[in-house]
Amino acid sequence: MSKEFDHRREIIVHGLKMNSSGLSQGTSGNLSVRWSDGMLVTPSGIAYDALQPEDIVFMKLDGSFDHPLAPSSEWRFHRDIYVARPEVNAVVHAHPTHCTALAIQGMEIPAVHYMIASAGGPSIRCASYHTYGTEALSVAAIAALENRSGCLLAHHGMIATGANMAKAMWLAVEMEALAHLYILALQLGKPRILPDEEIARVVAKFAHYGLRERA
Ligand code: 13P
Ligand code: ZN
Repeated sequence: MSKEFDHRREIIVHGLKMNSSGLSQGTSGNLSVRWSDGMLVTPSGIAYDALQPEDIVFMKLDGSFDHPLAPSSEWRFHRDIYVARPEVNAVVHAHPTHCTALAIQGMEIPAVHYMIASAGGPSIRCASYHTYGTEALSVAAIAALENRSGCLLAHHGMIATGANMAKAMWLAVEMEALAHLYILALQLGKPRILPDEEIARVVAKFAHYGLRERA
């Protein structure tokens, strides 16, 4: 099997995982991996359990594609992330309950737990609201992702990125766990926040920690 076919299968496997783990519901969310001079991205509006590897759309970074299915309506932010962030090779977008509840309130996730460092810094920002699929949403997402590998999207959901699909999905799961913990902590009073210096220390440690391939 070709490497491209493996990536197409990987996208479907992780799309199914995204729904079975409760990160997304129905056809909401979308996934992509960097490939050749563009990206492989889920088609718009098709249930993950109905997808075949050939249904994944190859789109060049100039936005052109030659496929009978339409690419995800969010192809712009997927494409713009690959252009802006050379270290990113996979993007996961979902509408997980706790991330989205915070995003409805326009709240970022502060450093309530050291695992915030998995997104690269002392907070996970929330991008301002813009209609789904628009260039304005993409611009806001790219800004919220500065020096971070994940962000929330106001009244919408979240984005997680990574050096590969497994890492992007790992971060998506961590972000939802952090959002859940933050909401629980808010019920108990004013959450206590870890200092920036501590998160900088953990970010440095995370250069040699986290999801890795088996030796
Ligand atoms: P697509 O089915 O077009 O990928 O849209 C899902 C979504 O989450 C839009 O923000
Ligand atoms: Zn969405």
